[in-house]
Parts: sequence; structure tokens; C-alpha cells
Amino acid sequence: MIDPFGRTITYLRVSVTDRCDFRCVYCMAEEMTFLPKSELLTLEELDRVCSAFIRLGVKKLRLTGGEPLVRRNIMSLFRSLGRHTHGGALDELTLTTNGSQLARYAGELRGCGVRRVNVSVDTLDPAKFTEITRRGRLDVVLEGLAAAKAAGLAVKINTVALRGVNESELDDLVAWTGEQGFDLVFIEVMPMGDIGGESRLDQYLPLSIVRARLQRRWTLEETDYRTGGPARYVRVRETGRRLGFITPLTHNFCESCNRVRLTCTGTLFMCLGQEDAADLRTPLRQSESDAPLEAAIREAIDRKPKGHDFVIDRRHNRPAVSRHMSVTGG
Ligand code: SAM
Ligand code: SF4
Repeated sequence: MIDPFGRTITYLRVSVTDRCDFRCVYCMAEEMTFLPKSELLTLEELDRVCSAFIRLGVKKLRLTGGEPLVRRNIMSLFRSLGRHTHGGALDELTLTTNGSQLARYAGELRGCGVRRVNVSVDTLDPAKFTEITRRGRLDVVLEGLAAAKAAGLAVKINTVALRGVNESELDDLVAWTGEQGFDLVFIEVMPMGDIGGESRLDQYLPLSIVRARLQRRWTLEETDYRTGGPARYVRVRETGRRLGFITPLTHNFCESCNRVRLTCTGTLFMCLGQEDAADLRTPLRQSESDAPLEAAIREAIDRKPKGHDFVIDRRHNRPAVSRHMSVTGG
């Protein structure tokens, strides 16, 4: 699949549920209305659509959400998708998770061909952790991380940099991930979805500032490591680990974008920061043959836009993209 700007699409991210056991302050409002379960693609349908993408050239598949591991019976989807990794059609099957269920599933995930997981941890302070996630427990997530390590999964920690919340701890997170043998990625707050009372402008902490502060303590060495995604990586000389920065408000990654995103209702977003989308549920349900589905996927890729329009709307203080990150998947 090659889009109109010559980019080869090899990476599919799938939000398997919009639900979550946490309510992170930058991601969701305290009271969320989730989709009725009847709107969701079934696990069998998700398998069909992922398999179609793999036939069309996707090499890397990430399940996300919401919280992917809270979807009932999700391991049956991992097991069935595992056949593509064991068969060699897929280079990587992975997930982004808040870690709350990892203690239970890490070993099984490894058995399904998963080799790496991204786990979101914004703070190492238990009280603050519960404040940010509104209902999560740090000790449970740390147990999940230990299980992931024991199962032989490589771990990358995602940390959203939040002004006045975890900004004083970012150094400690670099040290901790170094000790644990985890990579670390800092993420700038993105203006996605209504989150209730708080303002994204209050949360916004530019990573340029974060990076300058980290350089007082750590030696950050440039690398040419790229994932085709929005992260720019350096190596921390003192820990030997990779450290990434995701700055979505800048456009510096659109030209190498290799990915598209599917929601749990079967809507395909060709760009995280644009509203244009393609309905894949209808062609999926229209026929037992995958031909209409594959045609719809190709048509969608032909419309992939050049880049995004993220801006935190300072005058109206409203999100630039109305859907929540948990809908399209982070
Ligand atoms: N629940 C899983 C988790 O938290 O890792 C997967 C889904 S979550 C939407 C994926 C990633 O998006 C997480 O690392 C989260 O911190 C990040 N995220 C959510 N809302 C965001 C926002 N408004 N700006 C930047 N990152 C956000
Ligand atoms: Fe849930 Fe992840 Fe969003 Fe937090 S960031 S509310 S864990 S989906």
C-alpha cells in the first residue's frame, strides 16, 4: 500500500475498545459515555480486518485502546493474530497498555508472539499516580512490569509530560527506566477530546524545555534510530537506554508517516490529527468475501492526507480534534 505522497503503509494501530479501567486526566473526562457494545467490531471481525491489512502489506500491528487488556476475551484475538507472527507474515505484534492487567497476561502475550510492550507510567509517586489516572494503582502496574520482564518482553515506558504535575520527576524516570532496562518516551499533551474541567493549556509542557532540563544531568547522544513514527530518539550515555520525544504539535514526522489507525467500530483514520475517515465495518459485514474490504482499504490509503493540523486553540480553549485518544488509540 503506497499513499499519494509515496509513503508505504506498513503499520496498523487498532483500538480494540474505547473503554478503560483508568480515567487519565489528559485522556478522558471523569464521566465518560462509552460506545454501546453492539457498535463494536467482534473479535472475529477485528481478526478479519487485521488479516486483510497484513495481506496488503502491513508488517507491524499494535493493539491499543482504551485499555486493550480489559476487553473481554482479548487474548483470543492475540492468539489468532499470533499465527501471522509465527508464519512470518507479520514482523511485529505488540500493544500499548496501562499495565493494570499485565501481571496476568504477560506470559500468554509472549506465547502469542508479542516481544515488546509499551506501558504508560507518568509518575513513580503512588499518590500522584492515582491522582493522574483517577483510579489506577502504581503497585499493580509495577507488578505488571515485573511480570513483563520475567516473561522476556522488552518494555518501553510512555510518559506524558504534564506541567506542574510530573515535570519535577522526569529525571527520576530516566534513572528508573535505566535501572530497569526499559526504554522511555516522553509525550507532549495532544489536544484530543473533551476532558472536562481542566484545560490542555494548563497541562502543556513543551518537550524542548524538558530536553534542555534533562541535559543538565544526562548526556543525550543523537542517534539515527527511527520507527517511522513521531518519536525522535537519543541515547542516554549514562544508562545506555534509548529516550524518545514525541512532539505531535510540530510537523516534523508527517513526511515519514507509515501508519493508519482503526477504531473499535471499524472506522479507519488515515491521520491521527485529521477528521477524514473510512468506514470499514460496512464492507466487512457486506460480504463473506474480503474483496470489498480490501477495496475499501485501498481507497482509504489513496486519501491519506499529507499531514495534520494540531493546534491547541488558545482563543477558544477547545480541542483541535474532537475525538478522544482512546477512540483512535494512542
Ligand atoms: N490505555 C493504554 C495506555 O494508557 O497505554 C493505551 C491507550 S492510551 C490512549 C495510549 C497512549 O496515549 C498513552 O501513553 C497515553 O498516555 C497517551 N495519551 C492519551 N491521551 C493523550 C493526550 N491527550 N496527549 C498525549 N498523549 C495522550
Ligand atoms: Fe485509559 Fe490509557 Fe487513556 Fe489512561 S491514557 S485513560 S490508561 S486509555
